[in-house]
Amino acid sequence: MIEENVRKILHEIEGGNGKGEKITLVAATKTRTPEEICRAIKAGIGAVGENKVQEFCAKFGLIDGAERHFIGNLQTNKVKYLIGRCDLIHSVGSMRLAEEISRLSVRANVTQDILIEINVGGEASKGGFPYEEAETARKQISALGGISVRGFMAMLPESEDLALLTPLALKMRRLFESARERDEKISYLSMGMSGDWRLCVEQGSNMIRLGTAIFGERNYAQNVPHDTVISPSDGE
Ligand SMILES: *Cc1c(COP(=O)(O)O)cnc(C)c1O
Repeated sequence: MIEENVRKILHEIEGGNGKGEKITLVAATKTRTPEEICRAIKAGIGAVGENKVQEFCAKFGLIDGAERHFIGNLQTNKVKYLIGRCDLIHSVGSMRLAEEISRLSVRANVTQDILIEINVGGEASKGGFPYEEAETARKQISALGGISVRGFMAMLPESEDLALLTPLALKMRRLFESARERDEKISYLSMGMSGDWRLCVEQGSNMIRLGTAIFGERNYAQNVPHDTVISPSDGE
């Protein structure tokens, strides 16, 4: 089932996005066991993304053969658990968070790849910079040490209304393109989940984060292995 889902999706995105660019498929692995994740990697998944630091750390040593991304809401006091272990942080949605990533990366003598999260739908429930502040944020974060800004991440509103979603996806693509003209390191537009990824890649997303479409429905009651470094009381 996992294997077949991965193969089908990889086949479907083989031709690239609406602009003919290669699409990176990130498996969103929250609540999934290391066994399930390893099956997805064996089937061809090249990158996995966790939402919670505790789950990231718990599974870190148990999976192999794929990039590790962080895609969820990140608290500044947990940045320390990711530095040096995470290939790409998608969800940098405030200057305070960017500054903490910078501070710890410089101290560890590493460069952390990040995406700037944009709240493109202007939703109160979502994190990220307002769309209007995206270019200012990009300039300010790019000036920080220890950080490499590789692009943008956005989550579209939960809706099936194409007339609402399509212009938002297009707005993100325009933002991505204008930033890429100014900075050659800008490479990724991370946009698209199980419900809306086809629309997103059509409009020019080149990185999609899929959970349900790969693994099936989530069961939040499922236990994940605990990491000894982080106590459960340190959880989100
Ligand atoms: C869970 C999650 C996804 C994947 O969601 P699905 O609808 O299961 O594909 C993508 N991005 C983020 C940030 C997530 O938290």
